[in-house]
Amino acid sequence: MRMPETGIDSRELLHRLATRQESNIDWKGGKTFAYSFHANDEVTKLAEEAYRMFLWDNALDPTIFPALLRFESEIVAMCSDHLHGDDEVVGNFTSGGTESVLLAVKTARDYTREHRPEVTRPNMVLPSTAHPCFHKAAEYFDLEKIVVPVDPETCTVRVEEMRAAITSDTILLVGSATSYAHGSVDPIPEIGRLAVEKNLLFHVDGCIGGFLLNFFRDLGESITEYDFAVPGVTSISMDLHKYAFCPKGASVVLYRNPSIRKHQIFSYSGWPGYSIVNPTMQSSKSGGPLAAAWAVMNHLGREGYLKLAAAMLEMSRHFRKGIAESVDFELVGNPQMTLFGIAWEKGNIFQLEEELKRRGYVLHSQLERGGIPANLHVNLMPANGGILDSFLADLVDAARTVREGEQEEGGMLRAAIESVDLSELDDEGIARLLEMVGLGTGQLPGEGMAEVNEIFNALPHEQTDRLLKIYFNGINRIRQEETA
Ligand SMILES: *Cc1c(COP(=O)(O)O)cnc(C)c1O
Repeated sequence: MRMPETGIDSRELLHRLATRQESNIDWKGGKTFAYSFHANDEVTKLAEEAYRMFLWDNALDPTIFPALLRFESEIVAMCSDHLHGDDEVVGNFTSGGTESVLLAVKTARDYTREHRPEVTRPNMVLPSTAHPCFHKAAEYFDLEKIVVPVDPETCTVRVEEMRAAITSDTILLVGSATSYAHGSVDPIPEIGRLAVEKNLLFHVDGCIGGFLLNFFRDLGESITEYDFAVPGVTSISMDLHKYAFCPKGASVVLYRNPSIRKHQIFSYSGWPGYSIVNPTMQSSKSGGPLAAAWAVMNHLGREGYLKLAAAMLEMSRHFRKGIAESVDFELVGNPQMTLFGIAWEKGNIFQLEEELKRRGYVLHSQLERGGIPANLHVNLMPANGGILDSFLADLVDAARTVREGEQEEGGMLRAAIESVDLSELDDEGIARLLEMVGLGTGQLPGEGMAEVNEIFNALPHEQTDRLLKIYFNGINRIRQEETA
């Protein structure tokens, strides 16, 4: 594909953009239980306006764009206050949870290089429910990881198992508040005590829960302590583009004090160009996400967020009750917020996902791992309120449909794949196999994903990871002879 030889009229392009957007999910509609967080139309409009105003400003250099520095400082200060930080707490605005976590891990590595130079093969100790971005950090920064299984009943890590996993090369302990998969909160106060005792850094991943949990506590919920009020917590990541309802590209990473955060900052003046200083991963970066996040937080304020939190708390109670009353389903672990994993012991969760998709719902299945059954993930958001009852009814009805259809399912693909030794196949062989299951080059998954998910569920994760990499290596390829 080539760029058009002559440019296309902007009105025509706007029309094409609108047409393409129709292929995306309706994220404002209540049937989406993940991905996009929408508070209300006024918030969304304000965010868009603020984003547009600062879209072209560059946060690369705060001395040239002081307004952006001020947004960042105020956002960090508001977040620190929300997380019971004192005046020593510092932090930065980042593009998302993954960047916040990557930075916290890199900072821990470099802090350790200065303070414990004897550590040669640094490792971090993580619960098995820690978000994959920690595994990404280990891969990117060449760190060892020691994964501690969680108690499958509570889906939280046992602190004694964390203690047993620590070695002389451990640089960082990790806990989630909440975990993405099941909405559970690790025993942060106990892990904090362990971190103090062992003199280790301790990161709390509050990417999805850090913002809302303290509002839930203010509303009277019993929430595990998880923030800077807990001795031993040295850094926290918290996404604003999730439950703070800011547009994507908004997260913060906060540190207990500047002497830790110092190790996050990159500077280089050794080339013949101008000196570069980057506190975060991006260098040139739009002021849009910063301005939008600042505007949304100030518009909603604590009162606005408390109201949204109260509505979501009510929805969560209603949802839990609905699941508890259904004979078929149960929630995984011990969720403390608005994230749930729905397990279905008697039926096939992947087919249930597909049946719900046919009925217009967007949620995703999670694989069976470490004694925790496969389940359907649900993120409750304000937009889901209006359809919650019909969803609960559809869930039961979809389960019936799946059970009635089950006898006909042959599982032929699965049988075919299980008869092959995947490790014997080269990448091309795998690509052909993926084509057979409807995941060929440039193909998006359609009907039949239930069976693919079953295969992914049954394989050792390293093999599934390999299949996914090969699939994604082909997903966005457009051949040269193809046109728009
Ligand atoms: C979403 C999430 C992340 C990663 O954040 P992104 O914004 O998707 O990069 C990390 N940890 C938890 C617990 C999350 O929910």
